[in-house]
Amino acid sequence: MAVPVSQMWAVASYVIKQRVLRRKHYATVLMLEPLLRCNLACAGCGKIQYPAHILKKEMAVADALAAVDECGAPIVSIPGGEPMMYTHIGELVRELVKRKKYIYLCTNALLLKQRLEEGVFEPSKFLTFSVHMDGDRDAHDFAVCREGTYDKAYEAIKLAVSLGHRVTTNTTLFNHADVGRTRAFFDEMMALGVEAMTVSPGYSYQKAPDQHGFLSRENTYKLFRGLLQNPKKHWEFNQSPLFMQFLMGKLHLECTPWGNPCYTLFGWQRPCYLLQEGYAPSFAELVRTTNWENYGRASGNPKCQNCMVHCGYEPTAVHETFNSLRGFIKTVQATFAGVPDSEAGPNITPPAVTRFASTGEGHATEAELDRDLREAVDYRGDVIVTTRDGRTHEGYLFNVTADLVEYFPSKEAGVAALKRAEIVSVQRTGRDFADGKGWEAWVKKYNDAKAARAAGEKVEAIGIYSEPL
Ligand code: SF4
Ligand code: SF4
Repeated sequence: MAVPVSQMWAVASYVIKQRVLRRKHYATVLMLEPLLRCNLACAGCGKIQYPAHILKKEMAVADALAAVDECGAPIVSIPGGEPMMYTHIGELVRELVKRKKYIYLCTNALLLKQRLEEGVFEPSKFLTFSVHMDGDRDAHDFAVCREGTYDKAYEAIKLAVSLGHRVTTNTTLFNHADVGRTRAFFDEMMALGVEAMTVSPGYSYQKAPDQHGFLSRENTYKLFRGLLQNPKKHWEFNQSPLFMQFLMGKLHLECTPWGNPCYTLFGWQRPCYLLQEGYAPSFAELVRTTNWENYGRASGNPKCQNCMVHCGYEPTAVHETFNSLRGFIKTVQATFAGVPDSEAGPNITPPAVTRFASTGEGHATEAELDRDLREAVDYRGDVIVTTRDGRTHEGYLFNVTADLVEYFPSKEAGVAALKRAEIVSVQRTGRDFADGKGWEAWVKKYNDAKAARAAGEKVEAIGIYSEPL
């Protein structure tokens, strides 16, 4: 089973319409994050490291729908956090189906069976479960830091397929991915009955616990050439053929950061799903006030040099396909011709990714205070802001503009704002939730369990979280 023609037509007609209207900044996929809480803590995840009061928050359905309506994208992807933990997931999906949006509900599937048995979802051509599967059993359980998750997701996929739901897999690959095992994993997923697979290299999130597993551009080319060379006939990918060629280094694409915008608990994330450089109150404002020339590989921004993630490049590939007859023919050729072995990809040596230097303590000048406030947006813990009247304000700071600083107070509901001109200092407080401590603990647990099993001991399934699956 492949992507339905009605979905392809919805996307094609939408893109052609934007072209006729001469719109440059349009979105094809809206990434809607209704919560940041998850029941896993994966090594490569840069999304869940927040203080508890942020993880408890959920987006109002009305806010989510207003974002969907404003953005207009024909596809809505719902990641998180884990959307199956979102209290209003059934209502949100029903409302999106009414709007004829094609929904990709991205889930680790630990709660999928339960939600299906509860009757939360009706099968629909508009709804697809995009199940997080990072490779075969060992690879997946290691990547998500919990044994038993592969089996649980496998069973849930089987049930969802048998109930008539559309199911795809969503695989993020890191530098320890093995070509042979991953190809065998593709076979296994297709045999399970999934409609198609999405495969992407992991983005080198500065907040992810495992900082050593990310792929450089060269290693991405190498890995994807190995994976996709002579693809098997029964493999279906839920990705544009041009994007696949880009992953193999056969085609150069530039990033389109506004093409898959992210609406999250803090607003419209600037500039893209991966980087967090503040939030805009509306999609129109995001488009109007973001300095797009500062992003993408061509900008020289070090955070973009190794990025080959679908949210930045898939919209470029889709735009290329429908923007000219040449692009369309290129896509058709890529679809039917496969990948020529002899064609060499560009030889790019990306510069090292820079890390934030500021400690957030001490700012003798206004410029330093400005810098520390902006870096506090990227810090995954609460901060204390002191104002000229001597008062202190504690919370999770998520936006800094020339006039205002916005934050979620640690001990009160809602959003608070301070005038930028009133602020005299900002200090980091407590733990940075992206400090990687959980990852170190997991690797130790994993290695200990492996050694014990090798010595013949019986060791129960292990994970960062200790409660049973
Ligand atoms: S990557 Fe893992 S931890 Fe992050 S949201 Fe997905 S399942 Fe949860
Ligand atoms: S290259 Fe990647 S990180 Fe940079 S703006 Fe594009 S999607 Fe975001």
